[in-house]
Parts: sequence; structure tokens; C-alpha cells
Amino acid sequence: MRTTTGWQATGAEGLKPARLERRELRRDDIAVRVDYCGLCHSDLQALHNHDGHSPLVPGHEFTGVVSELGPEVTGFSVGDTVAVGNIVDSCRHCPMCRAGQENFCHEFPTLTYGGRDRVDGSTTLGGFSREYVVREDFAYRLPEGLDPAAAAPLMCAGITVWEPLRALDVGPGKRVAVVGLGGLGHLAVKLAVALGATTTVISRTQDKADDARRLGAQEFIVSADSAQMTAARESFDVVIDTVSAPHDLVPYLRLVGLDGTLSVVGYLGEITVEVTDLLIGRKKLSSAGSGGRPATAELLQFCADNAVLPDIEVLPSAEVATALTRMERNDVRYRFVLDMSDLDEAG
Ligand SMILES: [Zn+2]
Ligand SMILES: [Zn+2]
Repeated sequence: MRTTTGWQATGAEGLKPARLERRELRRDDIAVRVDYCGLCHSDLQALHNHDGHSPLVPGHEFTGVVSELGPEVTGFSVGDTVAVGNIVDSCRHCPMCRAGQENFCHEFPTLTYGGRDRVDGSTTLGGFSREYVVREDFAYRLPEGLDPAAAAPLMCAGITVWEPLRALDVGPGKRVAVVGLGGLGHLAVKLAVALGATTTVISRTQDKADDARRLGAQEFIVSADSAQMTAARESFDVVIDTVSAPHDLVPYLRLVGLDGTLSVVGYLGEITVEVTDLLIGRKKLSSAGSGGRPATAELLQFCADNAVLPDIEVLPSAEVATALTRMERNDVRYRFVLDMSDLDEAG
């Protein structure tokens, strides 16, 4: 076993620096020195739900530098800057994997943390650590010109909104609305704008109107204002709903135009929809989450080519507790990224 240092959940005390074990490199593994890891809402969820039985090290959107190669690695060299997202393995032979949608693997993809390694059965430990060992197929070369700190959130927040935008053919001439301007939402806006769509932000209050315009949105709708919502009836081809708390979808279905789609990317659990809300206008209700390998590589290249990066606030990893608390009350514009270099001293 190799060892590294990381932030491990220890029940009520929260995250503490701990010595972690990483597997020895298999034939097609690379070792990555983790430099930057974004903070995702699912990290907060994992910490809240942690029962203490299995080890928990969160973090599933990170960038770093390749430090060592397994003997059969062909895609990387030591010193390459790479990015890793929330999937680190899949079965590789089911129809979804063959279609490049490893995120929908029939045998369930191996998650970057809290997953079960397909070879040795161990629990995977995430990117809040100084080193990660990963199969080369699930690491992505960071294209020239992408800042490694800002690129980290592309690997979860970014790809989660990129796949539906692409699958729904968002581009010039399309009218897109993004519901919720948080980590996912602000990236959905930037990507939709860069794809050439006419983009509108829908938010609960007026607070983020200036931000929305700065991010490139042409229009802004306050969802609590029924007159504004009524005026926008059936005026979008695609509505991307990024709100993760349970909420009524009907007001957003009403905004979808003929043959348009409401894509829900927050996990809402069970939802109820009256069929006539879909029938009138032949509307589609869809969902998406994470991304496959081809789309992930495509996203990184698109962001490099179009200078699209999330708005981030970088903190030393020692301030992870502060970052989590602030994220919980939505006090971040728009994504925290932890700088892991301080773990060298912690070790
Ligand atoms: Zn995530
Ligand atoms: Zn599969």
C-alpha cells in the first residue's frame, strides 16, 4: 500500500487530517498528486449521511499532476496535468459503457469516493487528499490554457449540465432557461451562452440579476413574481432546472414551449406530474447526471477553446470546515475549490 494524507470524516468531529492508504499501481493506473478539489453539494450530503461504519473522504472533482505510471499506461506521462471527476471505473462492456455513457453503467459505475473498487472491493476514498490512484481511462488530460484550480468544478458541476445541454442540442437559435444560479446553474449559463443559445436565468429573487447578466444571460426572471412567470409561458426550447431541494415542477413545465424539454439535474427523488402538463405542448420531462468519458473530454476541450471556467473561491484545504458551512447556507459565488498543497505539512 501507498500512503498519503487527506481529510477524513470522523463522526461528530467533522473532517480531520488523516493518513490514508492508496492501492499500489495496477498495470493501467496512474498516481495523481491532487492539487485542487472542488466542493460539491453531494459532499455535504455524504457527510450528513455518514454512519461512521466505512471510511469517508469526500471530493470528486479534482485536478493535479501525474506522479507515477503503471507499466501499461499509454495515455499519460509523468508531469501531465489531469482532471478526475466522480466516476473512476465501470464495467466497460454493457450497452451504456459501449455507448460512452459510463455514468449510466448497468453494473453501476465506481464512484470516486464511497464506491466499491471493482478489483479489491475496498471503499474508494475521494479527492480531499494529496494523492489519488486511478485507472488511466478515467483521468482526462487538462487542455492547454485551462487554469487547474478553476477547472476542477468542471468535473462534476460542469459535466452534469454539459451532457443535457449537448443531448438537447443547445446552440444558436435555441432559447434556454436555467433555473437556480448556484454551482451548477452558473456553469449551465456560461456553457449555454458559449454554445450560442439565447439564455435566461430564473431565480427566486432579484439578488443575482447583475451576476446573471455578467455571466452572459440576456434575460432574468424572478420565479416568485407570477406576472413575470406568466409572461414567459411556453417561451423556451430547453429549461435546465438545477435546484436540488424538492419543489413543484409545474411552474417550470409551463415555461417550456412546444416539443421542448424540462431537464431536471438536481436529485429530487419522487416527483408527481399531471399528464396534461406534458400533453399540452407535447412537452418532455428529462433528467441527467454526471457524464461519460467522451462528453467529459469534449467539455474540457470546449471550455479551453471558449475560455469558459467556473467562478471559484480558492481556500487552503485546512479551511474545509468553513467552506462546507458557507456552502450549506449558499454563501459562495459560485464554487469552492480547496488547495491541497497544505496537506504536505499536515502529513
Ligand atoms: Zn459532485
Ligand atoms: Zn457498464
